[in-house]
Amino acid sequence: MNLAPYGVFALLTNAMAELGLDLIWSLLGYMTVLVGALAFHFFVTMMIVLKLFSGLSIKTSLVKIREVQIFAFSTASSNATIPITLRTVTKRMGVDNSVASFTIPFGATINMDGGAILQGTATIFIANIYGVDLSITEYLTVILMSVLASIGTAGVPGVGLIMLAMVFTQVGLPIEGIGLILGVDRILDMLRTAVNVSVDVAVTAIVAKSEGKMDLAIYNDPNAGSKDILDGHIDENSERDFSEVFSDGIVGSEYDDIKRH
Ligand code: ASP
Repeated sequence: MNLAPYGVFALLTNAMAELGLDLIWSLLGYMTVLVGALAFHFFVTMMIVLKLFSGLSIKTSLVKIREVQIFAFSTASSNATIPITLRTVTKRMGVDNSVASFTIPFGATINMDGGAILQGTATIFIANIYGVDLSITEYLTVILMSVLASIGTAGVPGVGLIMLAMVFTQVGLPIEGIGLILGVDRILDMLRTAVNVSVDVAVTAIVAKSEGKMDLAIYNDPNAGSKDILDGHIDENSERDFSEVFSDGIVGSEYDDIKRH
């Protein structure tokens, strides 16, 4: 780990000696394409899917997803965001716990839309840098491997890049190519994690709505649950209420007893 920055420096120096300042422009292009694709996926594709399959208001969803996005962006971890995501869908959006307690941890573990977008974009970028021409079959392999790699990505910072090695191996790209994008990955990781968890929230809302497991009065109330999640800060009293919900009917003094022991 301590040697990694020096390794990245050496790789970048080597690539820059060959490609000159063009590499900086290529990297900027890579970042722009990736950010654009992430934004398009969330704001256009997912919002159309949300509207089509649930009929819920896009504006309300965007407002209520905000805290989850901020938390995911700052931690770059879908898993660390689970407590906020769960509270958002149950308390802010009125999703029944029977749906949320399944879809949110499940989504945070395997549903990485942002991760899949990274795998595809990074593979094409590195193939261009190394002058590798990908055939149609290889493009299809990239799509398939990107989805598989994103499913296998753990919801913690930086793992998407490690899974990239799997895609590179499949299409015969040099693994050290990952070093070229390592330096700019942290900010991109923050962004893709925000997309990963936002999609979990949107899909949870769709499932809950279609199963009749959503309280629309809570969903339509702009202030619902806002005391539970104030800009990522979890209110202590609501934390207690929430634990009660999850302790399967164990309430009040019984819960206090369990907590004491
Ligand atoms: N940081 C991402 C997440 O937690 C995973 C990754 O793509 O590195 O969702």
